[in-house]
Amino acid sequence: MKLQTLLLDLIYPPRCAFCRRFVDNGEIFICDDCLRSLPYTSGGGRQKADFVTACVSPLYYEGDVRESLLRYKFHGATGYAKAYAPLVADCIRGELAGEYDIISWVPISRKRLRGRGYDQARLLAEAVAKQLHTTARPTLKKVVHTQPQSGTGSAEKRRANIAGAYQVLDPAAIADKRVLLLDDIVTTGSTLSECARTLGLAGAEQVVCASVARARD
Ligand SMILES: [Zn+2]
Repeated sequence: MKLQTLLLDLIYPPRCAFCRRFVDNGEIFICDDCLRSLPYTSGGGRQKADFVTACVSPLYYEGDVRESLLRYKFHGATGYAKAYAPLVADCIRGELAGEYDIISWVPISRKRLRGRGYDQARLLAEAVAKQLHTTARPTLKKVVHTQPQSGTGSAEKRRANIAGAYQVLDPAAIADKRVLLLDDIVTTGSTLSECARTLGLAGAEQVVCASVARARD
């Protein structure tokens, strides 16, 4: 273990990313109780969305999982990416093996990035890619700053809110490629669908997705 890691562990002993109890298995940041009892999906919670062939998530978005993801997304708990990554990577190995060429993520806008200081989906994608012995690459940028999808009402409104919000960074890099997009949470799928539509228009062959958690049907 690096000295810096040791010192940080003394100052901030590692806690479980879900229930926040101290953990001594510091490598994974999930306590044994949570590992046993988290609300796991079965079969990767596989679902479809418009323009998205398959979307998998190891967990349901509820209880401690929801609280954990809120801390991750809005309160600076960026280290949680390391706790989520093995769960998401396992899910990808089990459900999406051989179905993608590039790992990427659903980006946030520059304005949001300035406000938050980090892109939670990017951190997740990088940690997951590391688990899968590859690297994540940017494929999209968010060119329109939209209202959070959770507060925008009906499915139709959400689609209208997000339409045209993304651009492909380098069409040549994704032409005829199958893209795996990472995001922290999938609720209605409207954001993923718009990203997938944008990638498809630019020539991507297929888009599949993975997230930490999904809504229960
Ligand atoms: Zn726990």
